[in-house]
Amino acid sequence: MNVYLDYQAAKPVDQRVIEAMLPYYFDHFGNPSSLHKEGDKAEEILEKCRENLARFIGGEKEEIIFTSGATEANNLALIGYAMRNKDKGNHLIISEIEHISIHNIAKYLQKCGFEVSKIPVDQYGRVNIDKLVNRITEKTILISIGYASDEIGTLQEISEIGKIAREKNIAFHSDAVAAEGLVTIDVQKDHIDLLSLSSNDIYGPKGVGVLYVKKRVKINPLIIGGGQEKGLRSGTENIPGVVGMSTAAEIIAKEMGEEVKRFTDYRDRLLKNIPEIIPKCHVNGHLKKRLPNNAHFRFAGIEGESLLLSLNDKGIAVSTGSACSSKTLEPSHTLISLGLLHEEAHGSLELTCGRFNKERDIDEVIEVLPGIVHKLRELSPIYRE
Ligand code: PMP
Repeated sequence: MNVYLDYQAAKPVDQRVIEAMLPYYFDHFGNPSSLHKEGDKAEEILEKCRENLARFIGGEKEEIIFTSGATEANNLALIGYAMRNKDKGNHLIISEIEHISIHNIAKYLQKCGFEVSKIPVDQYGRVNIDKLVNRITEKTILISIGYASDEIGTLQEISEIGKIAREKNIAFHSDAVAAEGLVTIDVQKDHIDLLSLSSNDIYGPKGVGVLYVKKRVKINPLIIGGGQEKGLRSGTENIPGVVGMSTAAEIIAKEMGEEVKRFTDYRDRLLKNIPEIIPKCHVNGHLKKRLPNNAHFRFAGIEGESLLLSLNDKGIAVSTGSACSSKTLEPSHTLISLGLLHEEAHGSLELTCGRFNKERDIDEVIEVLPGIVHKLRELSPIYRE
């Protein structure tokens, strides 16, 4: 690939992260539960990483549970909380544009007897807070709203939603995967009780994640075994992976200021130039309240998949939406929730930039895309000028 603009789907691991991980495969390979010196060393680094990741989101060391990724963190948050607290109520609230993992967990909980309300969003993907408040009942025990959309990049009013939940004594969970490393997350300020993070989304290794669980918030484990991670996630700890995630968080915390400035510049060039050059092209999502690295468009009369494949032929990697849902033929549930027609949703394209992009990558897309759109529209039976 000459140009990679699909950072939301996957990120390369930063070389500095790999270097920090390597000694924990070869030299310090101990098990934190072992009672000898190697075990002590492993435990020491595990706790240091826990402290680091707590600092990354404004939490405390005891509130960090390591998992195999954000999918597991989301499962542990929603199922773990619902099962532990079902005597308090059986109602959960999510939004219509949550990540597919949250939707499928909600479906599972419905089968287990829980009720789930899905809050609609406006045309920009912002959760309707009045509707959310109206849906709260005496049986509501948990609200789960993603920090930002992994598809259209719209940021939610997390602090406001957290405040509402706190006032009503309802637990608040946020899947922060799309936003981590791009906005400063502060679980205290945002009144968050449960927060999911993924290592790869901050240039760490895949297969590692964190669930932040606020002190005194009680959840049930999903994986039962030797009692690691305070009994909430049994299994031998993945020390090299945890070191990778922690190092990735340290690096991004230092470099975020510069990166966000650079990404915003790239994003704004895409958002301004592409609809200017290409007729009948619209931006999906909010123009201002959006992730600094996300540009998302829809093009009348063509399929996103054809666009993606044509760009792929030119060495440019992009996406038509969430990689986690790409195996279904259904249009994106997020785009349909914005009020788009099926054909509009199918004609959408997502570009997400990241650490290793250069200005020339953006130049190349702006140069190549208009010709491809024009060609596809010439072949399209439905496009009218
Ligand atoms: N939530 C969001 C918003 C995501 O984009 C993803 C995919 N990166 C996940 C959860 C699942 O994360 P993981 O692949 O680490 O399980």
